[in-house]
Amino acid sequence: MRYISTRGGIDPIHFKDAVMMGLASDGGLLLPESYPTVTMEQLESWRKLDYPELAFEVISRYVDDIPTSDLKSLINRSYATFTHPEITPLVKKDGVYILELFHGVTLAFKDVALQFLGNLFEYILAERKQTLNIIGATSGDTGSAAIHGVRGKKGISIFILHPLGKTSAVQALQMTSVTDVNVHNIAVRGTFDDCQDMVKELFGDLEFKEKYSLGAVNSINWARVLAQVVYYFYAWLRVTDETDAPVNFSVPTGNFGDIFAGYVAKRMGLPVGTLLLATNENNILTRFITASDYSLGKVVSTVSPSMDIQIASNFERYLFHLFAENPARVKEAFAELKEHGRISCNSDEMALVRKDFCSASVNQDDTLQTIRDFYADTGYLLDPHTAVGVKAALDMLPPDSARICLATAHPAKFSETVEQALGFQAPVPESVKELHGKPTRCEIMDADIDKVREFFVAHVG
Ligand SMILES: *Cc1c(COP(=O)(O)O)cnc(C)c1O
Repeated sequence: MRYISTRGGIDPIHFKDAVMMGLASDGGLLLPESYPTVTMEQLESWRKLDYPELAFEVISRYVDDIPTSDLKSLINRSYATFTHPEITPLVKKDGVYILELFHGVTLAFKDVALQFLGNLFEYILAERKQTLNIIGATSGDTGSAAIHGVRGKKGISIFILHPLGKTSAVQALQMTSVTDVNVHNIAVRGTFDDCQDMVKELFGDLEFKEKYSLGAVNSINWARVLAQVVYYFYAWLRVTDETDAPVNFSVPTGNFGDIFAGYVAKRMGLPVGTLLLATNENNILTRFITASDYSLGKVVSTVSPSMDIQIASNFERYLFHLFAENPARVKEAFAELKEHGRISCNSDEMALVRKDFCSASVNQDDTLQTIRDFYADTGYLLDPHTAVGVKAALDMLPPDSARICLATAHPAKFSETVEQALGFQAPVPESVKELHGKPTRCEIMDADIDKVREFFVAHVG
């Protein structure tokens, strides 16, 4: 399997090069040249596999430059850090199925991909005798999952900037309590945007980027999407163990990464009806799907902060397919976005979109009300991101279908909001209790690019 760019400007490359390239060098996103298909017989034969075995079946179809035994070992090590034996268990609650993706070290679904990506990086770097310095900005979830993905790994250092005091308490502790020598937390007196701007500036300095082998861990890495495809297969196999009803997925969406993985699963032949794209008030993707309106708005802060996004970076991957794999049309769309703040699609294109996706936007009041109602009805605690997806599923998906809602975070990770909704705190898992009282390490600094650069150069691996 080889990989090409949505902008059409690179020669096809193999998997390991795609992982190390991250963003395509022509500014596009990398995609496989084609999608391997899975027959119903094959699917049935996967029913007895455990999660790591299934992950190998799915992932190996996209990897032709890592020996089988090495790939198996990378996958097994990545999922050995999960605290649930099923890795991503599916639980049935009053009319919906909840796919619990939060049993990894940082209690959010990003661990599913970043544990794997951390191991992959280490493996490829060792083979190539290279090093990598990861720099990233986070509002909370990506940073902590990335830090835990690469802590203690050879050949990699990581520098994560977060806005001081603006993440949840648990998110901050999950980052700053990691004191491995290759992990550097920087708390910036400023906003997430300040952090993001400084990271962009460092990457924009090509000489600096080259000299220090800078790398990113944002959701554009193909390996992250690929790791997430697996749990769509896993959930489908578990739900069809017990019902013949058609299967739909509801996915709380920010960067379009998670739901794109569902689209890939569907392209591979997984019999999925609709992918329901659930957004909060930052609803550009919902406006696009329901009203053909992809026009940029302002980012507003909500109780589901990991979805407070206007430009969904993975959306370009989908547009490439929507535009019949025509890079010229992709470039045209992004030129329009830059110039006019929107992307326009014709009615044929929109008909294609609606064949695979439907969408709903859920506001804060309804999110909090859903946490309350779902708890009253089932005794089950939803985190605010998951609640957005559950509310959308209850409103939009046929009740006689198997409605699988992706649970992207553990409620204890956003306990402030759960408490706001219910009046009491979510039970605190052991892994969170242990965070309190652990030694922490974090550099606090002003939003000053020179200070950040200085710190980086002084601590680089
Ligand atoms: C990152 C995140 C999301 C959004 O996922 P995308 O892949 O960016 O769409 C949703 N919920 C939680 C808890 C997250 O951390």
